[in-house]
Amino acid sequence: MSGASRERWQRDFPRWFDWVLRDAEVYDYGRYPVKGMGVWMPYGFQIRRRVVELLRRLLDETGHEEVLLPLLVPEQLLRRESEHVRGFEGEVYWVTHGGREELDVKLALRPTSETSITFMESLWIQSYRQLPRKFYQIVSIFRYETKATRPLIRLREVTTFKEAHTVHDSFEDAERQVLEAVEVYKRLFDSLGIPYIISRRPEWDKFAGALYTIAFDTVMPDGRALQIGTVHNLGQNFTKAFDFKIQLADESHDYPWQTSYGVSDRVIATLISIHGDDRGLVLPPSIAPVQVVVVPIPAAGEGEVAGYLSRVREVLEDAGVRYRVDDRDDLRPGAKYYYWELRGVPVRLEVGAREAREGTVTMARRDTLEKASVRLEELPQALEKAFREIEENLKARAWEYLKSRVKRARSVEEAREWIQARAGVVEVPWCGREECAVKLEEELDARALGTPWPREPADGERCPVCGARAVTWMRYAKSY
Ligand code: ZN
Repeated sequence: MSGASRERWQRDFPRWFDWVLRDAEVYDYGRYPVKGMGVWMPYGFQIRRRVVELLRRLLDETGHEEVLLPLLVPEQLLRRESEHVRGFEGEVYWVTHGGREELDVKLALRPTSETSITFMESLWIQSYRQLPRKFYQIVSIFRYETKATRPLIRLREVTTFKEAHTVHDSFEDAERQVLEAVEVYKRLFDSLGIPYIISRRPEWDKFAGALYTIAFDTVMPDGRALQIGTVHNLGQNFTKAFDFKIQLADESHDYPWQTSYGVSDRVIATLISIHGDDRGLVLPPSIAPVQVVVVPIPAAGEGEVAGYLSRVREVLEDAGVRYRVDDRDDLRPGAKYYYWELRGVPVRLEVGAREAREGTVTMARRDTLEKASVRLEELPQALEKAFREIEENLKARAWEYLKSRVKRARSVEEAREWIQARAGVVEVPWCGREECAVKLEEELDARALGTPWPREPADGERCPVCGARAVTWMRYAKSY
């Protein structure tokens, strides 16, 4: 795919990312006087809203029901599941006062909602006949992150946390739900053109309180892995902690089974990062707040161009696209191109005297920067085609990038070179023993992301740490 250079995008990604968020007016970060908390600006909020709408649609059409739980979680609720609280304890914000009075019960700002929803489910659900139930909410969560915070990637207030919580009458049904959740997230990422690898997180890095965790990771332009979604089989850990039992088909009583799964602002961070280039955002048309920008040349209000512009508007109106006519008369066309390219608008139409005379528009695509002359009456079809091609192009380019960033290595040395070059994810044969993986994490100074999911055998391979026969692959990367 031709298009703008991606030199700066790759070489200096953190600065590129900060620049795009600020100058494209997506997210104002680092100026609001609470560390780790940023402000969605109007343009960014519209991007966010379209991602949220997509997510809601995918969940609603698979039988998930939206709910809204309180922000505050009483201490005793959060402490009910012991591993869970150990996992989150260091990151919880506590509300200790109401006005001038100290509260009897400390209240946590939710770091996630497994405990709150399990408590409510134990009141709502008595019988297997009511199952499965699938709830979700899209809310803010709060975590007192001690690592360096980063806009949309590591926040203390995560503002777009979609958490789903499900209840089942058997382990098998919970396992089926894990598969459904993975499918929903695949559809979400596929719709946004975001490439991913799916791993089963190592035992020592699973969600606090889960039987196991399946995670979606992608590789950012700087070669670091970013977790963009997780799915947990919670088993009966939380229902036991809450003494939540239901009646089963055979009249016996048992603890139901649960899953939970989440995605966050990181989906939007990835959407912005993975498709961008040195000129700024490149948005898929389905998400772009403005799909088409019309730039009159030299400016609006001049005789034949003005008359012709109103015809162009009509065509765009009838085609049902989200468009904007940039008729600011204090900016030259070149400055307008720069402005809308930075904001990732998929298609630009230039309309001048020549176009008015010929009954055409000059159409420029943001992804390839290619220009073409289109007859006005053919514009709706041309736009439809361009939108489809842009989505396909962005997705293909992103997957190609990810594939170039995942490598298999047979030796520690080979793995280390890949990690040190910040080239992405490396897969190394693994014997299945925790100590070997932990040792390699230290030697590579990288994080073990887990084993491929579904599981991939490593026939004939040996663990480079202990020399034993490998049973599968373990993935390592520098990570956010
Ligand atoms: Zn080993």
